[in-house]
This record gives sequence, structure tokens and C-alpha cells, in this order.
Amino acid sequence: MSKLFTIAIHGGAGTIHKSQMSNEKEAAYKAVLSLALDKGYKALQQENSALDAVEIAVTTLEDSPLFNAGKGSVFTHEGTHEMDASIMEGANLMAGAVAGISGIKNPIQLARKIMEESEHVFLAGNGALEFAEEQGFSSETDEYFYDELRHQQWQEALKNDKVQLDHSPLKEEKFGTVGAVALDQFGNVAAATSTGGMTNKKFGRVGDSPMIGAGNYANNNTCAVSCTGSGEFFIRGVAAYDVSCLMEYKNLSLEEACYEVVQNRLLKINGDGGLIAVDQKGNVCLEFNTDGMYRGMKKSSGEEFIEIYD
Ligand code: ASP
Repeated sequence: MSKLFTIAIHGGAGTIHKSQMSNEKEAAYKAVLSLALDKGYKALQQENSALDAVEIAVTTLEDSPLFNAGKGSVFTHEGTHEMDASIMEGANLMAGAVAGISGIKNPIQLARKIMEESEHVFLAGNGALEFAEEQGFSSETDEYFYDELRHQQWQEALKNDKVQLDHSPLKEEKFGTVGAVALDQFGNVAAATSTGGMTNKKFGRVGDSPMIGAGNYANNNTCAVSCTGSGEFFIRGVAAYDVSCLMEYKNLSLEEACYEVVQNRLLKINGDGGLIAVDQKGNVCLEFNTDGMYRGMKKSSGEEFIEIYD
């Protein structure tokens, strides 16, 4: 058994400037990131799986109104909340994903149930909700997901007829999709990602977060990856899997592979965002091509940090 373990989390990448952030706000973001990181780390320390750790960390971030996932999810064009999430285990390439669901408090937990209790990988919309009900998930009211700032962002996006990341400089206040990657004491990696998607999205738009290989991927042979940013580019670039492929087929290190995908391949197609990744040796990479990314990591070696800006 390798005793080494590590966890990394993100709360979205985007146009994040210190000038637009009060000290209180910054402290509030850091407090939630720190809570999520600690809970995930503790799970690993107590010899739980990487899968458990990423689920716990993402659940904590989903429960905060500050991030665009679970409780803090942005509004769709119709004024609803449609959430996407996925989870993957590197040991056996098992995966679960859910898209376009409303009312579920913790979409990441539903993604895991799909992985473990259904014969499928990816469920969407009403069918996914039917499955959730069968599995004993309860439904939250619209009030649970209501947030004044998110509502304002949506009204503005409606006015301008824009679909937008909640990373827009004008709407600077709250950010991002959330995700976690971990390596446990048994040498297994896992990744989890959850989001409310983009403000004012319509036509059943689904981003990269629930798509295995695009916004989320885990493979013990290479790494575990969770992405954030303008999902369309991450889908076209098959970004998370590309990091893994560059390691597997080109023998790039974790750091080289993440840099290549985020700073070269995504940028070439104008893809803005970032990703977090961990490999089996416990290396961590937090790479982004935006002004900032809410992020943090904690290793059993004692290394630990939480950062927001570049
Ligand atoms: N990647 C997410 C999406 O496109 C958005 C984000 O990362 O904030 O749905």
C-alpha cells in the first residue's frame, strides 16, 4: 500500500480580479474551499477511497451558494436550474454522469448512484429524476436554489440575449463549476465535477462537466482531471482525456500534459478555462489560462495551499 495521498479542488476559473473582491468576500470563498479540502483530505487520511474523497469535497462545494453548482447554480433562459455532474474512478474506469436535472440537492451523489446502481453511465433530464426518486433522492424546492445575485445575472443575460459563464467581468461576484481530484492511500485516483452550467442557457444545453473525457476523467495509468471554463471548447478538445492521452501515448509528465492542453490546444480554439489534475505519484497540477481559478490542494507530505488569482 502506498501511504501517499493527495486532494485538489477547484471552484471555477474565469475573470477573477483582486480589485473586484472585498476582503470579506475573499475570506468567504476561501473558507468554503478550505472546508471542502479538509473534508476530502480527512476522508483520505482515514483510508477512504479517492472516490469517497472527491464526492465529499464536491458535495461540500455544492452546498455553498457561492459556487455555480448545486445550491448556487445559475439560472437557465426559462428561469429554472439545470445541473450537470459526473464522477469517475481510475482503478476500473467506472463512471457515472447526469445532465439537465432540477431539484436535486447534490447532483454529484446522483452521478455516483448512476455509476454504482444502474447499468448505465449517463442519464439525463426526467429519466434521471425518475431514477433519483427510485434511489430515494428527495427533491428541493425552487427557493432552495434561489439566489438574488444569480437572478440579477440572469436578468442581465436575458436583456442582452447572451449565454454566459458566471465568470463574466461585468457580473463579477460568484464563480464557477466545482470539481475535485484525489489519489488515495491505495494508489487509486478519482475525479468529480459538478455545475449549474451557463447563465441563460437554453435548448437543453449541456456543457463539458458531465461528459466523461471532456470535463472529467480518471485513469490509474495516468491521472484524474476535472475541468472548468467555457464547456463547448472543452468538449471539442476532449480536454480531460487529452491530458491522459498525452501522458499515456507521449509519455508527458502530468505538468507537461496539463500545460499543453490548457495553454496550447485549448487556447488555439479560443477555449478559456482551466483544470486540476493528480497522478498516481501524488503530483498535482492546477493549470488555467484565465485571470484566476478558485483552487486548492493538500498533500500527505504536508504541502497545502488555497489560491484564487493568477
Ligand atoms: N464548464 C462549465 C460548462 O460549460 C462551466 C464552468 O466551468 O463554469 O457548463
